[in-house]
Amino acid sequence: MDYGYKGQVAVVTGGSSGIGLATVRTLLDSGARVALCARNEGRLNDVAAVLKRDYGDDNVLASALSVLDADAVNAFADAVKTAFGRCDLLVNNAGQGRQSTFATTSDEDWRAEYELKLFSQILPARAFLPMLKEARGAIVAVNSLLAYQPEAHMVCTSSARAGVQNLLKSLSIEFAPDVRVNSILLGLVGSGQWTRRFAERDDQSQSREEWYGALARNKGIPLGRLGDPIEAAAAIAFLGSHAASYITGAQLEVSGGLSRHI
Ligand code: NDP
Repeated sequence: MDYGYKGQVAVVTGGSSGIGLATVRTLLDSGARVALCARNEGRLNDVAAVLKRDYGDDNVLASALSVLDADAVNAFADAVKTAFGRCDLLVNNAGQGRQSTFATTSDEDWRAEYELKLFSQILPARAFLPMLKEARGAIVAVNSLLAYQPEAHMVCTSSARAGVQNLLKSLSIEFAPDVRVNSILLGLVGSGQWTRRFAERDDQSQSREEWYGALARNKGIPLGRLGDPIEAAAAIAFLGSHAASYITGAQLEVSGGLSRHI
């Protein structure tokens, strides 16, 4: 599907895997030039080589860095400016969840989780804001339904994600009318995190289909399955596009109907 990004430039953090990679491909398919980052240089380079083969060298820029390293994020923004001259869309996707209860979360874990969730929004937003303002662009943050529907076995990630939604609302007001800020709230999407948990399943004889199906039933997902990364990417591409030009400060749930609040 073409979301109308011809002539535009998008940046996707955590673009080497899962939802981030599906988003990179969706935006490239829609005509954007795309810059992506992730920490693991080997995996990033492998992904970038395939993307450059499929979409052309001039349309892809890959930088190995952590979004928690302010200097590296600023250098990434400079590299995007030099290579592409602009930035229309920032997708803050990098990160992962943390499974722990209050009893099993150390102070160090709390600090690490809050740093990851908040600064993975703050540092890229600050670095790319001048270009986003100039382009009258958009930020789309990838967050979780846990922000509104916490789970006790993911206590610190749920609480940090609620803080992220609050931060994004403030940014949507402060950055208006130049830059729109929206988020998607995920339920369970069958990407990197769940692939890793599937690999560590108790009953190794269970197929991926069986394990994912049982997971969807146990979680009570009305649509009866996990989401596909491409379905999250579609929501991101929509919110970042001109089709969403009057939407800011909003969140779009992509969860197969998992939320219980109205
Ligand atoms: P993946 O593990 O498949 O992808 C995560 C990506 O983020 C990788 O490219 C990873 O690369 C990168 N990354 C992680 N930490 C950093 C960092 N500090 N700096 C730069 N890049 C980083 O996960 P998903 O696609 O499943 O998840 C994408 C986002 O969606 C995450 O923020 C996750 O928390 C969120 N989410 C996912 C859900 C799901 O069900 N899948 C549910 C709710 C939220 P590298 O490791 O090389 O840095």
